Amino acid sequence: MDTMKAVRVDVCGAAEQMLVKDVPLPKPGTGEVRIRLKACGINLIDTYHRSGLYPLALPTGLGCEGAGLVDALGEGIDDLIEGDRVGFAMGMGAYAEAIVLPRGALVKIPAGVSDEESAAVLLKAMTVDYLFNDTFPLSGGETVLFHAAAGGVGLIACQWARYKGVKLIGTASTQDKCDLAVSHGAEACLLSDDPELSEKLRVYSPEGYPVVYDSVGRSTYRLSLGLLAPLGMFVSFGNASGPIDAVVPGELALSGSLYFTRPSLATHMARPGWMQTSADRIFDLIEAGHLSVDVNQRYPLRDVVRAHNDLEGRRTTGSSVLIP
Ligand code: NDP
Repeated sequence: MDTMKAVRVDVCGAAEQMLVKDVPLPKPGTGEVRIRLKACGINLIDTYHRSGLYPLALPTGLGCEGAGLVDALGEGIDDLIEGDRVGFAMGMGAYAEAIVLPRGALVKIPAGVSDEESAAVLLKAMTVDYLFNDTFPLSGGETVLFHAAAGGVGLIACQWARYKGVKLIGTASTQDKCDLAVSHGAEACLLSDDPELSEKLRVYSPEGYPVVYDSVGRSTYRLSLGLLAPLGMFVSFGNASGPIDAVVPGELALSGSLYFTRPSLATHMARPGWMQTSADRIFDLIEAGHLSVDVNQRYPLRDVVRAHNDLEGRRTTGSSVLIP
């Protein structure tokens, strides 16, 4: 077979800009591997790439995360063979039947983890890993605020917090989502549209929170800022409601000498050895039963438009995958 089906974006915009096309099957060059994809992870960042919020050169493929079988090897690869199961969390063009990536972007998937689970967990759990272990290292006993607690990253964060002995107070838009977050280990989860949300959140940490993990952005910025303890850390790691307009240094001072950071997974992926170490940690947590992977939405590749509309329309919980 010389062609494959893949999602292509020629013009940035709404979900309907994504088209499934027949394109040439890519061939691996030196140091590269072709993977026949079994599942492609869907992440909110894919919608930022599609809309143009995070600009890419056009036309472009879409999708950063996936898992499948090695089906062709370029020169110089001696530690993989055809048929090996591999996953990745930072490739571009994963919404496809196959992808070619450098060997260094891949991790082997252990026997106790399925391809689908790997595609649904790696990017999101690596994000939680660096948020909880690097950006603001949690040692256990802290009470932290985490918005969108029932989403893909959110349900993993709830479980990882429980594993670390951290009280995660979540927010989510429906009672069902809140219940799901609590069943995954959140200490409590409050409705994000509650007019008394700020007061209710303060009850769980009367002196303020040492850290707020905020991926919602524009609509939660002021709330999060007001709930931090003196010397607290504002971790802004996403823009689900749109980017924060401006961070004013004087406000950080007046709110108690706060720290503000805007971390990205790409920075951590670029640290030598970090990706493999993080993947090992995640797979170990899954195999030990501390982390379950919730694949709550599955779509055939041809339904990619519906998948993005569901994610942006806040109709999903946990992880979503495309099946090519
Ligand atoms: P989610 O599954 O969490 O989906 C996004 C969620 O955001 C929605 O389900 C919704 O939950 C919430 N939300 C709040 N306001 C809005 C809004 N106005 N429109 C749409 N959704 C809204 O997505 P992911 O797990 O893929 O990603 C979670 C967040 O983490 C994203 O913001 C993403 O960009 C960020 N991220 C950042 C990374 C980094 O390294 N910086 C890496 C990976 C992810 P609810 O209905 O409960 O409000």
